[in-house]
Amino acid sequence: MQKFVIKNGKVCDGISQNIRNSDILVENGRIADISENINGDYMIFDAAGKIVAPGFIDAHSHSELRKLKYPENRTKIMQGVTTEVDGHCGISSNCFAYDDGVFKWNSFAEYLELLSETRPSTNSVFLVGHNDLRRSVMDGKPAIAADDEIKAMQRTFQELLEQGAAGFSSGLTYFPGKFADTREMKAIASVLRNTEKIYTSHIRDEGDDILNAADEALAIAAAGNGRFQFSHMKTMFQRNWHKLDALLEKIETAQRNGLDVTADRYPYVYSATGLHQILPPPFDKNEKISTYLRESGFNRNEVENALKNSPRDLNSTILVNYGKTIGELAAERNVSVEHAAMECLMENNLQRAAYLAMSPENLKKILALPYVCAGSDGISSQLDDANDFVHPRAAGTFPAFFRMVSSTCSVAEAVRRMTSLPAQIYRIHRRGALQKGYFADIVIFDAEKFDSHAGFDGKNQFPTGIDKVFVNGKLAYDSQTPEIINRHGKFIPIN
Ligand SMILES: [Zn+2]
Repeated sequence: MQKFVIKNGKVCDGISQNIRNSDILVENGRIADISENINGDYMIFDAAGKIVAPGFIDAHSHSELRKLKYPENRTKIMQGVTTEVDGHCGISSNCFAYDDGVFKWNSFAEYLELLSETRPSTNSVFLVGHNDLRRSVMDGKPAIAADDEIKAMQRTFQELLEQGAAGFSSGLTYFPGKFADTREMKAIASVLRNTEKIYTSHIRDEGDDILNAADEALAIAAAGNGRFQFSHMKTMFQRNWHKLDALLEKIETAQRNGLDVTADRYPYVYSATGLHQILPPPFDKNEKISTYLRESGFNRNEVENALKNSPRDLNSTILVNYGKTIGELAAERNVSVEHAAMECLMENNLQRAAYLAMSPENLKKILALPYVCAGSDGISSQLDDANDFVHPRAAGTFPAFFRMVSSTCSVAEAVRRMTSLPAQIYRIHRRGALQKGYFADIVIFDAEKFDSHAGFDGKNQFPTGIDKVFVNGKLAYDSQTPEIINRHGKFIPIN
């Protein structure tokens, strides 16, 4: 299938606000022609009544490890995602020596070899994560970096950029990123100066101190090349919801002053991350708290007491591995929510939780902004393992984002924010739009039926409405044969 035509579709090119009826000729992995009535001896895919769009780009993903285990990457490909930008929030163990007993590599280059042998269904773009960069130089040392340590991080970062990494990501609320000061972050970001590559950040505080954290993020970006992607933009906890206007004012002032600031957001009001985020100070600084609680009985009562001042609402917090809230678990076990939460922390160091922490009104406001693209913050999954419960954003972000943005803006605008906007942010060349000469990452979908069926109820399901997905000019997914996923994804170096 080197040559084929997609006929009779409503072509939404990812850039313009017009949708026009056209045929698309694909030849050797690229778009060879877009015009009315392309005829010839080609294989034909009929797209009558359907939208033909560029493959969606997941601007914020965490699949760098998971797609080795689940190379079909069903959660993403079945939403129409053809390219993922991985390595966000400071987390990119793929860029460094790694060994988890199943997968092992000594360098980013070796990881890329393994990825190419595994060949997932989706293309990959990788950021260098600050947490792992820091670990490679300082282990988990809970200290401010010394000058020579900063220099070592800069050198390693520079080398990874030369190998095609797309930029720098940070997660200053996680270990060991939270030990870094602004000076360290500015110094590393300065390596970006002679490039157009991006700095992305899960900022130091998305709640009470969000405005200062945003100032810090913008200052770090300014110390780099002035390009900044605000990760999963939100204001956490009801008491901070009113801060959105001040936050947007900061961002838009920075834009007027010449910074290139963009953002991504998933269309959900629950966040999901490690359960350790429920810990108030000083316990939030203890990376090994589960082990301590378990093995030595360390401060169990003290931790339980401290949880009365948790920054999160424990009662409504969903334990994603259990498919229930801490409140429900506490009732089942006939203990207080604090006690149940402490037990969960003790039982599993990797316990994941979803927090009802965001405002539905703010979500609407954020999604209405022209510089906000779709980013799932989700991972690859097969969704066939009850023990592998993932946030519904992993399988539902794109249909849900499409429905929300197309209903308030337009179909073409929703598509633009899922395609050419992220391509432009990450400088992914010749993708994210339907144009002659571009790589043939293409999705055919029914705009009426494209919808998410993913939830927190443990019955996470795939979206409806996606007809066909092509990656690098080859058919990856066809709704007629949903059991088959063809894997044609590649690593996309950013230069
Ligand atoms: Zn994050």
